[in-house]
Amino acid sequence: MPPQLPFLPYATQSIDDEDVEAVTAALKSAWLTTGPLVSKFEAALASTTGAKDAVVVSNGTAALHTAMHAVGIGPGDEVIVPAMTFVATANAVLYCGGRPVFADVEPDTLLISPESVASLIGPKTRAIATVDYAGQPCDYEALYDIVAGRNIPIVADACHALGGHYRSRPVGSVADITAFSFHPVKQITTGEGGAVVSNVEEYSARARVFRNHGITTDHRQREQAGSWLYEMVELGFNYRITDFQCALGISQLAKLERWVERRREIANIYSELLGDLAEVRPLAVRAGLGHAFHLYVIRVLAEPGGAGRARLFHYLRGKGIGVNVHYLPVHLHPFYQRTLGTRPGLCPVAERAYEEILSLPMFPAMKNSDVHRVVETLSEGLADS
Ligand SMILES: *Cc1c(COP(=O)(O)O)cnc(C)c1O
Repeated sequence: MPPQLPFLPYATQSIDDEDVEAVTAALKSAWLTTGPLVSKFEAALASTTGAKDAVVVSNGTAALHTAMHAVGIGPGDEVIVPAMTFVATANAVLYCGGRPVFADVEPDTLLISPESVASLIGPKTRAIATVDYAGQPCDYEALYDIVAGRNIPIVADACHALGGHYRSRPVGSVADITAFSFHPVKQITTGEGGAVVSNVEEYSARARVFRNHGITTDHRQREQAGSWLYEMVELGFNYRITDFQCALGISQLAKLERWVERRREIANIYSELLGDLAEVRPLAVRAGLGHAFHLYVIRVLAEPGGAGRARLFHYLRGKGIGVNVHYLPVHLHPFYQRTLGTRPGLCPVAERAYEEILSLPMFPAMKNSDVHRVVETLSEGLADS
């Protein structure tokens, strides 16, 4: 029997000794939570993203909920959300009592379609959620042209795009408020973790209160002020993140630029090798952007209707290659069909894409030989039919 090659996941974290030492030091410090490393991580994130302020929270979904709250989403409000995303983007609207309205995506990038957004804006539209799908920033210029003069903020779900750029601006300083996730599959990790960043002081202030039960001061601020009094001014949540997670985040963030650079190298190798295969097509990459390549997504064109993709998925999984599918369009989930009455046909471009997409392994610790192995196995899988 030939030696079994190691399983290659679609994404995984990179943790080194420096990270471990940073976490260990935090665990031995006086503060396990609401301590100085929280603000230190926030300052580092603000600096990386070019935003005025960052508020770190317990996960990316909490970040989205916090962002929707910060821009004031409430009952009766509609938020336009792309159909091609993880459910959390739309769920965050529901958490605030609002209603997600699903926009279709552009066929070549799977980013929210500005034309679709323009056609869905109505009197109840209170925000637009964008998703920098796979790590590529959306067409913010077109989107801001649409909302110009309308007082409709753009809430970016940039859980895929930390380290990316829109033209010369880092992701985090493009939308009105931006949410990140630090789940292990993302660009940097804190185990579970997330953040909202914004240039709008009112949004950051509301986010800070919301993540701490709706209370205006935290434990350390009261200790520093020598005061016991705290006031709850609105209904918030405990969305805090610990200091030892922030220690990991600070240590990881220092490596972000190098890792995003490596993700781009891997994407270039994929694109070059896949150029020879007529049956698959990578998503388009727009000019003038810094793609952060959380995912490397191809469309499997062999056999329409999803049969080719399904076969290739099982073939690659059988060969130890952890391909995945991102995502089943949100409006097709049973919950959404049941509660909002959404149906197939609502977002045809996203639905068609769903039948064809496959995410190939993409993480900075991948070797070039791993990338070659993925493409060779993929070619075998296509020839196998
Ligand atoms: C990962 C992710 C989230 C949720 O982040 P968690 O940290 O897992 O809660 C939300 N939206 C998108 C697009 C994501 O990829």
